[in-house]
Amino acid sequence: MERADGLAAISEEPARLTRRFATAALKLATNTVAGWMRAAGMQVRHDNVGNLVGRYEGAHGATKTLLLGSHLDSVRDAGKYDGPLGVLVALACVERLNARELRLPFAIEVFAFADEEGLRYHTAYLGSNVVAGSFDPTYLSLVDADGIALADAIRAFGGDPAALTQDARRPDDVLGYCEVHIEQGPVLEALDLPVGIVTAIAGQSRLEVTWQGQAGHAGTVPMHLRRDALCAAAEFMLSVEQLAEERAGLVATVGQIAAEPGASNVIPGRVTLSLDVRHQDDALREQALEALHDQAFKIATRRHVVVQWQTVQESRSVLCSPWLIEQLERAIEHVGYAVHHLPSGAGHDAVVMAGLTDVAMLFVRCKAGVSHHPAESVMLEDVAAAIAVLESFLASFASDGPTL
Ligand SMILES: [Zn+2]
Repeated sequence: MERADGLAAISEEPARLTRRFATAALKLATNTVAGWMRAAGMQVRHDNVGNLVGRYEGAHGATKTLLLGSHLDSVRDAGKYDGPLGVLVALACVERLNARELRLPFAIEVFAFADEEGLRYHTAYLGSNVVAGSFDPTYLSLVDADGIALADAIRAFGGDPAALTQDARRPDDVLGYCEVHIEQGPVLEALDLPVGIVTAIAGQSRLEVTWQGQAGHAGTVPMHLRRDALCAAAEFMLSVEQLAEERAGLVATVGQIAAEPGASNVIPGRVTLSLDVRHQDDALREQALEALHDQAFKIATRRHVVVQWQTVQESRSVLCSPWLIEQLERAIEHVGYAVHHLPSGAGHDAVVMAGLTDVAMLFVRCKAGVSHHPAESVMLEDVAAAIAVLESFLASFASDGPTL
């Protein structure tokens, strides 16, 4: 907890926590964690994109490596735990192994990814994409708000943008990836549980839905002759909420809306809204989208407005690996808590790492489900529980895991 406080003080901005990719603040945070890793008996290296990797060797003859970790970059005005908690819990487990001079039949590498949030280049997961071998080299020419190209930012941070592909791990060398992360939702708190096992990271569709009606004078156009785009959009928004309430596991949100021309005495002629739909089952997400699409066009026809339905971004759901989930179940039972499974509605490095190896995630309860905000908070006892569970997970892994 002290380490999380210490890292939270390392920021680009004096009054709030902001740590973007490849900044001096990230460098200082990375070097701080590197010092703790060395003290825990790990060999430390920095890869070309700026990820920090601490390696704890396995027993003699160990050939494979289990990957742990999370990210050290943050959103703007962030909390202390989204990202760093996963790095620090993994580090604490290695620290305990080292204190007992215990070597497992596999090596452990703790990753502190340099970019997950994508705040600087608006492209998330730059760090884990390099490790998973899925980095898109066209990103190197992206520029940040100050006009600095990604390739130059990587160079300034000490890496070689031409060598990124060399940092990709080979799937054969890796056992799996397990990430500890705050839940960023209120489910564990409602159940009074310190930790939960992630079943899948939900697939997501982001859409832009535009409603074209007819603007007009709020005083002179009678109600039956109006084509009010905002009323059509409002009816649609409530049907989005209703559908999501009716379907288990579905979440759907209209988070942005703009009405034009946007005056108190003018009938809205055109409305653009965002639609975000997520489910851990891709087929059910697609079915929900179809239903919402039909609903939008029905509303539009009845209200004599024209609707445009545009997909902005789509990502498929990522399943956590059943055998790793089983290992986490046993670890939680061993430590003495009830086992609870839940999907992750937010994206994580594990999404990208799933392209390389089997992945698992352990969620830690956070206060009121708040994240991406300075009020982000976790309890000491819950962090202790997460460390105990990850420690037990590593031990059971060592005793009866897959052929190592
Ligand atoms: Zn995170």
